[in-house]
Formats: sequence, C-alpha cells, structure tokens
Amino acid sequence: MRLDKFICKSTELTKVTALQYIHEGIIKVNGEIILDAATQVHENNHVTLNGNRLTARDFRYILMHKPAKTICSNIDEAYPSLFNYVDVEKVSELHIAGRLDADTTGLVLITDDGRWSFNITRPTQKCQKVYRVQLSRELLSNTQAKFEQGLQLQGEKQLTLPAKLDIIHAKEVLLTITEGRFHQVKRMFAAVGNRVVSLHRERIGDVCLDVDVGQWRHLTPEEVRSFN
Ligand code: URA
Repeated sequence: MRLDKFICKSTELTKVTALQYIHEGIIKVNGEIILDAATQVHENNHVTLNGNRLTARDFRYILMHKPAKTICSNIDEAYPSLFNYVDVEKVSELHIAGRLDADTTGLVLITDDGRWSFNITRPTQKCQKVYRVQLSRELLSNTQAKFEQGLQLQGEKQLTLPAKLDIIHAKEVLLTITEGRFHQVKRMFAAVGNRVVSLHRERIGDVCLDVDVGQWRHLTPEEVRSFN
C-alpha cells in the first residue's frame, strides 16, 4: 500500500498529517528517508516515524446480512447506509466488495483491504456469486441455455460471461454469475423478457450467508485466504 496510507493505518494520524511528516523527512523506510507519499510499502518493510517503528493494523474482513432498504454506500442517502449496522472502529475506512442494490438482500463482504476486494469483483478472477431470484413470470424453456451462452445487455457490447441457472420452480431460480455489472441480474432477466421481483445473495466464492438479517461477523482466516 502507499506510504501515507500505511502511516494512517498504523497510527491515529490523518492523511494530511501523514503527508506533512513525509515531507518533513521524519519517515524512514528500511533506514532511508522517503519523501514520496506514493512509495509502496508492505508489512515486512521497517517503517519508522522519528525512529519509532510503525506496524500497520490488521485488515478487517466482515460478512454481513444486508437488509432491504439499506444502501451499500458510506453515507446515508434515500435509505440508511449499511455501515450503520457495523459497530467497529474507523468504519469510514471500510468498503463493500461487490455492492447490492437498495432492495436486494443477503451476503455482503466488507473490508478495508482493496487488493482483497479486487479479487472478488474482478471478472477475470471468476469468483462465483449466487443469487436466489424470484421472478414475475414463469421461466421460458430456453432461458437456461441463453444464460449459459451469454446475453447482450442493453447498452453493452460484451456478452455476459456464462451463467448457471438452477431452477427451484417456474418463478424461482438460483443464478450463479462471475461478474458484477451494474444491476446485472435484473438486466439479465429483463433481456429474456422477465422481471426480478426479489433478489437475495446467498454465496460469494466458498463463503455462504450464515447470520440473521442485519447481523455481521468477522470472516475466519480460512475464508479470507479463499479469495487470495
Ligand atoms: N444484480 C442486480 O441487479 N442487483 C443486485 O443488487 C445485485 C446483482
């Protein structure tokens, strides 16, 4: 991570103060004064402030069951922010790895580790997201094949990546996708003449939703590693 971020993560200092200290030349990395705040450092580097070693706080990895009528944003807007439910320190440093719409419920992963969340959201990583979808109309017989082949979403050039549809009954399915385009699930069903009535995310990668609505827990180290 950047040197200024590392300093903020390992102290109570603001970014402005961290930048000031770097420019004053009182920050050393492996014994050398570093004046460039963008210098990349990691936990094995020996970073000091006036000779005192700084060690970055551990990253945080949280699983939460998002209620309906909450938003995946750090501030309240038309609906309250999901982060109102997460009572941890420095909540403003957290972000969501794969946002859900305000009316969508289910599993969200929350972290302050940008590299880790990129592994979840980057399409080339092919991280599976499983949604339980209630539909307004009965599924057509060719929908499974169309999802498997890839769909042309309105306004997009690239077909969607192959998606798997498990039929629970005519108006309820489990959909597995490996991307996270804007309103992707709703737009996929719109592309085959159907409409999503309710949407709930049950799984991301190997991590399944196992807490009640509005509740959260820390991920286990094994769950964290499963996305590396
Ligand atoms: N796809 C959607 O359309 N909405 C979500 O919230 C998640 C995936």
